[in-house]
Amino acid sequence: MLRPLLALLALILGTLVLGASPAAEGWRLAVHPRWAGVLGWLSGLVPGSAFGWGLVLLLALLVVLGRDPRRPVLARLGRILVLGLALLLLGLLGFGLLHGAERHSERLGLMDPGPEAREEALARLERALRAEVESLLQRGVQRQPVLEVELATVLAGAFGALEQECPWLEGPSVAPVRSLPEGWLASLGLAGFYSPWTGEPHVERGLPRVVVLSTAAHEWAHLRGEAREDEASLVGWQALSASEDPRARLSGHFVLLRSVWSALARTQHEAAQVARSQASTELLRLQEEVDAYWMRSRGALSGAARRTNDAYLRLAGDPRGVASYGGVVDLVLRDDWPRRIRGDVRRER
Ligand SMILES: [Zn+2]
Repeated sequence: MLRPLLALLALILGTLVLGASPAAEGWRLAVHPRWAGVLGWLSGLVPGSAFGWGLVLLLALLVVLGRDPRRPVLARLGRILVLGLALLLLGLLGFGLLHGAERHSERLGLMDPGPEAREEALARLERALRAEVESLLQRGVQRQPVLEVELATVLAGAFGALEQECPWLEGPSVAPVRSLPEGWLASLGLAGFYSPWTGEPHVERGLPRVVVLSTAAHEWAHLRGEAREDEASLVGWQALSASEDPRARLSGHFVLLRSVWSALARTQHEAAQVARSQASTELLRLQEEVDAYWMRSRGALSGAARRTNDAYLRLAGDPRGVASYGGVVDLVLRDDWPRRIRGDVRRER
């Protein structure tokens, strides 16, 4: 059993290291949407997270295998290890191959504005985003509940709007957005995650309401075949900004504004302070709510989870590792962002 496993590992590593390849592109456009669709449909038949149930089943199986008295302990442990590794690799093969396909921003033809134009554009983006968030807050959108059962419907609508511009994002809408018991993902420092084994986007159940849809949209972008973190956040934001649902637009713009504030604080300290001093009490309160949530929710394993994710992303060909999450701001600056904040995509339909 070990030899086919090593061959599989070599194939995955080879694909990841080689980067873009016709095989990865074919997988991305022709196979993955159908594969994820079938998985998501099957997962939808299971109440709760199929990934969560799969973990429970795997643990039960490991206990049964570990108790087999006919084999020595080392052989039993070896079987357990091989089984776990085989399942892990299967998921990595399905999802990892997507890293070799063309980026969403490349398909859109987005160009780097250059360092000088970037600074000026960043300050303009901050003002436009903040104005839009403030106007949604004034309408009381932050007080409207976001139910877990609604997430898939809201996202299907948002992505449906974006698909007209980006047909490569077409894909399954059958997967429900799932959650694990409250606090599990947050303790690992994760707001959400996409399970390639079951085609299910997951969102941490205890997240502050205002960031739920943005997190779910990022995971939904993974479901639709964009594996890279900054690109998935770009796709998620573009979809939410095209949504008819004001809760989706608030969440998308609010979370992007957090990233823009961080980017501004790194390069234009004074401008970052001015931006915060001009923000309304309600906006600052929401920002502090999210900061406080992460301060109290991250557990002892979050450092290890971050390092594992970092190693995985580097292996997948992104030398920035987990720093790539913050790259979404640079991608938005290359995009025609005023059109999206104004909601032109929505009105053009
Ligand atoms: Zn992600």
